[in-house]
Amino acid sequence: MEVIILGSGSPLVVPDRAGPSTLVRIGKTDLLFDCGRAVLMRGAAVGMTARELTALFVTHMHSDHTTDYNDVITTRWITSQDSRPLLAYGPLGFKRFTEATLNMLDTDVHYRMSHHADLQHKPQVQAHEIAEGLVYDSAGLRVIAAATDHSPVHPTMGFRVEADGKVVVIAGDTVPCEGLNRLCQGADVYVQTVVRRAPIAQHPMQRFREVLDYHSDIEQAAKTAAAAGVRVLVLNHPVPPPLPGTEPQWIAEAKAHFDGEVLLATDLLRIEA
Ligand SMILES: [Zn+2]
Ligand SMILES: [Zn+2]
Repeated sequence: MEVIILGSGSPLVVPDRAGPSTLVRIGKTDLLFDCGRAVLMRGAAVGMTARELTALFVTHMHSDHTTDYNDVITTRWITSQDSRPLLAYGPLGFKRFTEATLNMLDTDVHYRMSHHADLQHKPQVQAHEIAEGLVYDSAGLRVIAAATDHSPVHPTMGFRVEADGKVVVIAGDTVPCEGLNRLCQGADVYVQTVVRRAPIAQHPMQRFREVLDYHSDIEQAAKTAAAAGVRVLVLNHPVPPPLPGTEPQWIAEAKAHFDGEVLLATDLLRIEA
């Protein structure tokens, strides 16, 4: 099982970090977690296509994690010969979100269906609203969801992928919580959104300081990893975006609380579980 960070960014636009999205690849199976800015461009770099995507999992409907949902839907639709639906899973409210996205696309759908005689079906999405527990089970591959805590954003989910005796956790945006601890138990790879507390706490703008309210800081992510016996901690979606040369400081802050391997995500970082 391989984890590929497609986009390691956040809502803050920087030239080298696409929006949050992570690919978990098991043989020919491609599971995509979140679909932020430029997800399909990054996917193209590793042979992931909307057309062949096995399933999409959405941690929550914050814009940075879903900006390119419409692109995944449209690109799958116009590159497929058949009307196989996109299989998509998200928290409560995800069906309404999908409906609204499809409505937004309606003008383009009309243009393309009018132009192409062989394209006579609209984009198909099989959207599932998930609760805690087993949400996907196919050919020895299991995806387990648990509620995370990104309050006041609610609901949010984290995911644990189990295959070939390995475990990968895609935690998304969350502070430490019971659901997260459950997901991370004995994980080989744990991908966690992190913020670096000191520079944010000193920021003059209150809206930016409030980012601390609902994300794990580096120390909290490291402590979650240590308590769960994780092998590799991946610091993802770093806020603020790390300035060049400061990367070792991020790693050192985590290593102070966790003995395992620590990686600071960059786009297209690959980790073998
Ligand atoms: Zn986010
Ligand atoms: Zn969020």
